Amino acid sequence: MNAIEQLLNHPDVRTTPLSDGLKIRNPATGDTLAYVRTTSVPQLNHIIAKAQTAQTEWAAKSALERADILWCWYRLMKENKENLARLMTMEQGKSLAESLGEIDYAAGFIRWFAEEARRIDGDILTSLKPTQKLMVIKQPVGVTAAITPWNFPAAMITRKAAPALAAGCAIIVKPASQTPLSAYAQAVLAYRAGIPQDLFAVVNGKAADISNTFTQNPIIRKISFTGSTEVGIQIFRNSAEHIKKLSLELGGNAPLLVFDDADLDKAVEGTMLSKFRNSGQTCVCTNRVYVQAGVYNEFCRRLAVQAGRLKLGNGLDKGVQQGPLIDADAVAKVEAYIADALEKGAQCLTGGRRSPLGGTFFEPTVLSGATADMLLAREEIFGPLCPVFKFESEAEAVAQANRTEAGLAAYLFTRDTARQWRVAEALEYGMVGINTGIISNEVAPFGGIKMSGLGREGSKYGINEYLELKYLCLDIG
Ligand code: NAP
Repeated sequence: MNAIEQLLNHPDVRTTPLSDGLKIRNPATGDTLAYVRTTSVPQLNHIIAKAQTAQTEWAAKSALERADILWCWYRLMKENKENLARLMTMEQGKSLAESLGEIDYAAGFIRWFAEEARRIDGDILTSLKPTQKLMVIKQPVGVTAAITPWNFPAAMITRKAAPALAAGCAIIVKPASQTPLSAYAQAVLAYRAGIPQDLFAVVNGKAADISNTFTQNPIIRKISFTGSTEVGIQIFRNSAEHIKKLSLELGGNAPLLVFDDADLDKAVEGTMLSKFRNSGQTCVCTNRVYVQAGVYNEFCRRLAVQAGRLKLGNGLDKGVQQGPLIDADAVAKVEAYIADALEKGAQCLTGGRRSPLGGTFFEPTVLSGATADMLLAREEIFGPLCPVFKFESEAEAVAQANRTEAGLAAYLFTRDTARQWRVAEALEYGMVGINTGIISNEVAPFGGIKMSGLGREGSKYGINEYLELKYLCLDIG
């Protein structure tokens, strides 16, 4: 067994076809990588029941014991970093450099929440009566469930599983059907670290059936979902009957504002990073770039040069910066946005078409002359297409940036300190990058406002999503 096969040494993963299983393919080559067993609804209910027993035992352990096991999982992730990254590139398509970065990011959540596990502290409140002692303790929510997307096959899982396990919860993860192998590999390492299999289960199958089981089974007390706003709304609605706790990390439509006084090199570099990371397929990817009139032409010129230099190819090949898009639908969507924008007056400065590499490779594209009536101004592009809008005043830029129901991430580039504060406060987003295009890390609270979701992941706040407050009133009179 080679190192990657060892990571996939899970009873639900096979190299031979499974009659009712999922076929997992490499989007760069079209090769079949593995087959994954699907879980029926009765099997899932059985897994949930076993998770309940495992959770009771896990919650009874000391915080230190849980933290030590999480530390061990973290170290195994780091020791297997190279192979986890290769596996991710094979099933997802992103460049190996990005996959290596994601494994560090994913492992970072495990380390962070191993530390936080020891600080789930309560409170003693100032009582109204001398004979009463008022206290607040924090307890695990119980059995939780996660549904995750394909664009970050490792980090979207540890961002949920690590705080859940640290808090004393069980978690059942349903990864995206295109990228379940990274989920199984992480589970294999978690089991090696001492996390019981029933406490952290990975399941696959028809997404709606799994999700409905999560929302209908009363043992599941919380669902954490990362994915599209459309599916998030369904889960929100379906969770009403049992009043499930919810975390929803949904779609974005991130604006990036470049003012006349910006450091233009930094602004172009930040735009490149925030737009073209993962071929434009991240929820915090810049969707709309607004540039002030004085630097508009020069910014567009420099951005087009940089975008045109990006190297496309199989993410495992040396020097490749951009992999393929996840599937044919993603390519068709990007093409439709470009056609609509060109018809409404945009100019294509670079790219604009499928790559000669074939498959789902698409050329990094920059469009100037973007306007608010174009589809790409309203919808999440999720691909390597960067539209650049022109603005005159700060007030106009802020108003345009806020013209969306999404509220996940926003970026601005300016050297003026007063403007940095003023604009950051005026932007209706959960996260704002100032003079940078990369903002995610385990220390910071990740999450959106408006239609981009509920709750925060990572940071000192993230563990609260898996804890219930309990108030105790003790009368000693
Ligand atoms: P998606 O279609 O919503 O899928 C996400 C997950 O939901 C997958 O596991 C999918 O399973 C499952 N799913 C699909 N239909 C479902 C249903 N009816 N009920 C319950 N679950 C269902 O989203 P995507 O296209 O994979 O991911 C891209 C979206 O995720 C973008 O909008 C992006 O902005 C968002 N995202 C947000 C964050 C954040 O932190 N805010 C992070 C990353 C991505 P199958 O794969 O089996 O269909």
